[in-house]
Amino acid sequence: MGKRDVRGSQMDTRAVWAGEETYLAERATQVPVVHSVSFGYEDVDEWYEVALGRRSGHIYGRNTNPTVAALEEKVRLLEDAEAATSFSTGMAAISGTLLALLSPGDRVVSIKDTYGGTSKLFLEFLPKFKVDVTLCDTGDHDAIEAELAKGCKLLYLETPTNPTLKVLDLERLSAAGHRQGAIVVVDNTFATPVNQHPLAMGADLVVHSATKFLGGHADALGGILCGRKDLVRAAYHFREINGATLHPEAAYLILRGLKTLALRVRQQNRSALEIAQFLATQPAVEQVFYPGLPSHPLHDVAARQMEGFGGVLSFSLRGGFADVRRFLPELRLAHLAANLGAVETVAGPPRTTSHVELTQEERAALGIPEGLIRYSVGIEATEDLLADLGRALGKLPASA
Ligand SMILES: *Cc1c(COP(=O)(O)O)cnc(C)c1O
Repeated sequence: MGKRDVRGSQMDTRAVWAGEETYLAERATQVPVVHSVSFGYEDVDEWYEVALGRRSGHIYGRNTNPTVAALEEKVRLLEDAEAATSFSTGMAAISGTLLALLSPGDRVVSIKDTYGGTSKLFLEFLPKFKVDVTLCDTGDHDAIEAELAKGCKLLYLETPTNPTLKVLDLERLSAAGHRQGAIVVVDNTFATPVNQHPLAMGADLVVHSATKFLGGHADALGGILCGRKDLVRAAYHFREINGATLHPEAAYLILRGLKTLALRVRQQNRSALEIAQFLATQPAVEQVFYPGLPSHPLHDVAARQMEGFGGVLSFSLRGGFADVRRFLPELRLAHLAANLGAVETVAGPPRTTSHVELTQEERAALGIPEGLIRYSVGIEATEDLLADLGRALGKLPASA
């Protein structure tokens, strides 16, 4: 740590300065994108020391790279973690972590509402490796604790969830997981380190799809894992062999996006709360899902463990999917796309995006109404987004 040690600083300051100093070259004020695949040494002894990890340095781009290392260090400092490593995508981070830490015969306890890809790992891929997975109803903390009590190697949590913004009590469940000696992993993608600190509430590992809020500009895929050094090391070791390495160009874009993370997320928190309150008053809207509303079943938990309630909300239209079809094309200030966490507002129905492969009954079992729309708030002016939503809602029969 040099002159720019910002460990005690506010999130805004850390987002700008953290992790970069070591990687600035030739008096540049910005971290360079290092495209070099390998790193040369004059001296075999030094090369050997670096290869063994006894000395800092880089050998080969599948293992480490300076631009990628700067990003990992910034996110490590934002999450106040012991260690961090990165992956080519969020799913590479999640699958790499699970495959590195689990063995045949191990048991995983998780929830039914994890991200679609994660859920596929649990239901389709981990069973092939004889890993036993139990998925509990997301809101049912007692049921999760009861499953943990039967023995558990890894407890996998996500909060708030996609797309109905369910909330889990991280302090309670981390403690319950640790009583069974389980490793506790939390997907913090929706909350971001600006709003929620799972490691401070007892989790061992935090995973991010950096594609979403961390990068924030919908122009780079990436994944990050932070937390306990031994566990991050194991996941890194798997990744350096399996090869799901983050590209330096993507690392740079995410690093640059991160500088405005706190600014963006605070604006998104503020807009999302106002929009959720507005939608709750609209006749065409059946239900609004947002942890910041007092009507949310776990609003008190969210208020305790989150500094802001995040930039994603969802709402269902009374007219079901017919309304969704009419409503979405009316939005002027939203991409209709399968993404979230960007500076532009993004909207879409889970029925055709994240949960397209489920039957109507399966979606109903997850509490996903057919008329649901996920709305990821961008950084546009709140009043413009409110006007856009109001105008589009006005086109629906229930508003007539
Ligand atoms: C998008 C997302 C992922 C997967 O990330 P990719 O970068 O698309 O692989 C994982 N978890 C959550 C909560 C997500 O929103």
